Amino acid sequence: MTMRVDAGLTPAPSGVPVGRPMPEMERPMPEAPGRRLGYAVVGLGQFALNQIIPSFARSQSSKLVALVSGNRDKALHVAECYGVVQKNIYDYQSFDRIADNDEIDIVYIILPNALHAEFTVRAFQAGKHVLCEKPMAVTVEECDAMIRAGREADRRLMIAYRAQYEPYNMEAIRMAREGELGTIRLVTSDHGRILDPSVPADQWRMVKSLAGGGSLYDIGIYSLQAARYITGEEPVEVSGYITSDRNDPRFAEIEDLVAFQLRFPSGALANLTSSYSTSPVKRIQVFGSKASLVLDPATEYERHQMMVKTGKEERRVQMPEGNQFAAEMDHLAKVVMENREPKTPGEEGLRDIRILQAVYRAAREGKPVLLSTTDAPTR
Ligand code: NDP
Repeated sequence: MTMRVDAGLTPAPSGVPVGRPMPEMERPMPEAPGRRLGYAVVGLGQFALNQIIPSFARSQSSKLVALVSGNRDKALHVAECYGVVQKNIYDYQSFDRIADNDEIDIVYIILPNALHAEFTVRAFQAGKHVLCEKPMAVTVEECDAMIRAGREADRRLMIAYRAQYEPYNMEAIRMAREGELGTIRLVTSDHGRILDPSVPADQWRMVKSLAGGGSLYDIGIYSLQAARYITGEEPVEVSGYITSDRNDPRFAEIEDLVAFQLRFPSGALANLTSSYSTSPVKRIQVFGSKASLVLDPATEYERHQMMVKTGKEERRVQMPEGNQFAAEMDHLAKVVMENREPKTPGEEGLRDIRILQAVYRAAREGKPVLLSTTDAPTR
């Protein structure tokens, strides 16, 4: 007997398997993914495991295919949880063999700062593209070497400045650029937290040879980034003060509290701080001739808040949070596929390291330092 199946509208006789129409959806289905590039994550620490690796599930153009770790048991466990095959687990010695693995397109470096340069250069030598955590490296020379290695390998280098891929910060940048705040006169930004020696991730942060610097390198870089991406300008002068209690073992090698100021060509100023000994703050304030804006928290992983004040009127800006980690990984995957440059290339990371070095110098010498803008990235 032949049975008529008209787009599933006829009830199916019992015992006969048939397809049915798409049910009414209670929530939207995820967008069908296009091509995804394969990432190898290097260093399975707190940031990689809590933020980055879980965010692959929210990405459209990226997938986790390989792990690099000095702890094989941890790597095996992570691989099992996220469906990474065992043959794609490497350690720091076998890392260079990624050259023979076509599944890996991009290497994401999430190691202590002093190891960024070495693993970036080795990744380029293996023919891979690189996403590197902030700060890009410890010295200007390392940054130069990373950029050079990327050029020689004809591969992309992007610094993981997640705030530039985060919707609230992107909206603040748009408002500043499109003149909604008037002329930008002043940016203030504060990033602080308590450095805790009992937390493993804070232990290498107290060692200068691994961290490169203290609060300025680790989180002051967010304050600096904010001043640069909000104004869209490069500073021409920097001054700074640093205070650290040398009797506090946390600050035997690295700095604690930093206040620094930038002067921009337009005459805009930035008043910025970083701290390892104050209660947590992640705030950006922008003062324009027409309106001011407060992002607080500004550089959290989620739950950002933004207020815009014009005269006596204050309004809260709300928008979908998105996932800034997936967004930055997808950005690099897309520019690689389209053979374009990333929004936050190595040159952007290098610029920050130059400015941070100038802050140290200004604080050490007790006088402002003039900066050259000739090597500034274009925006
Ligand atoms: P963790 O200490 O938690 O992780 C670092 C990992 O690097 C370790 O787990 C280890 O991985 C590996 N590693 C290799 N050599 C060393 C070493 N000598 N000492 C310590 N670890 C080593 O640090 P975080 O995850 O907090 O930071 C890693 C990087 O990510 C830093 O550059 C930091 O600035 C950046 N970061 C960025 C954030 C952002 O918001 N963009 C937030 C937090 C960090 P394994 O055991 O697998 O070998």
